[in-house]
Amino acid sequence: MYSRNIRLWSRTVKITRMKTTRGTRCIRPNTPSAGTAAGSIRAVPPAGSTERGERALSYYTYRFSMIRFRHYVLKEGAVNTTAEKGMYGLSVRPCFGYLDPLRVLEALRTSPFRYLEMTADEGEFFDRWTRQPTGIRKRIEDAGLSVWSVHGPRTGWSLGDLDEDARRDAVDATRTAFKPAAEVGADVVVVHSNKSRDEYPPGEYEPCLEATRVSLETLAPIAADFGLRLAVENMAGRSMTRPGMDVSEVLDLISGLGEHVGICFDTGHSNSAQKQVANQIRSAGHKLFTLHLNDTSGLIARDDHYVPGDGTIDWSDVLSALDEICFSSPRILEVKNRVEPEAGIALLERLSAVAIRWTKSR
Ligand SMILES: [Zn+2]
Repeated sequence: MYSRNIRLWSRTVKITRMKTTRGTRCIRPNTPSAGTAAGSIRAVPPAGSTERGERALSYYTYRFSMIRFRHYVLKEGAVNTTAEKGMYGLSVRPCFGYLDPLRVLEALRTSPFRYLEMTADEGEFFDRWTRQPTGIRKRIEDAGLSVWSVHGPRTGWSLGDLDEDARRDAVDATRTAFKPAAEVGADVVVVHSNKSRDEYPPGEYEPCLEATRVSLETLAPIAADFGLRLAVENMAGRSMTRPGMDVSEVLDLISGLGEHVGICFDTGHSNSAQKQVANQIRSAGHKLFTLHLNDTSGLIARDDHYVPGDGTIDWSDVLSALDEICFSSPRILEVKNRVEPEAGIALLERLSAVAIRWTKSR
């Protein structure tokens, strides 16, 4: 066992590497936790702040934290992220953007991360991987990694569109991701229940959910044919009336579609929608198939995708909730690199520290 304390920002993090991994700890299988009704989300912006001002402040705070981290890496030597491969994974597009994928795989090889989420859009990590999934799968597996999930393409995000042609186009775009997803070795395909809009007028709310349900009824059997599980993601806040922000609505959307249809829970989306994040996980229960772990500032509609700990989410409560529902699938972090592409590697160091700390805390 190797252990050292490093100072990151305003707190000291003890990084420990174990030679063995621990099994899943199950506290209370699939039972809601008593006494957790009150959330710990701090979502009130400072007095006098403006949305634009908050956004700018948040960006520079984040950028400054990256610069401080790089300074630490240069001065103290990079945190050795070599660790026993555990339960964590990374969504590669938001983190690494347009960095050379082979360089990224090399960096991931010695990280604690074992699983990847790919995005079924061209021009992303491994450009056009959907056209050569088996070849890309071999490269990924040669690096000691595997693809756990594939995020459906952006062109497929309008599954709840009230324009019938647009909805069908979204269904067709999503279904094209299934074959390469199966061939690249994924277990789960993630879809959005609707496309982001600034407003959802009350009169369009229920029809949107009904349209999404029709789309999912089409997609669910196709996913099963490819041996895939389908996970519908909870949506970020855009206005307080956006459909699909609450896990209870997503559960309604997938009800009766089969054991292979469940939920992708995005912690940041939930926080930006002013939900009690850990309790939403408890509500999902055994239908929780996969995760997008990220933090946000807690402000309404701010889908920040920060490193866990940089926002307002109560992560100890989130980790407890996952144990309570016996969540044993890979835990995917979906954090955006908002600086330049090269910062993706420094971001990997930060995310590695989070994964090691969380693994050690179990
Ligand atoms: Zn997400």
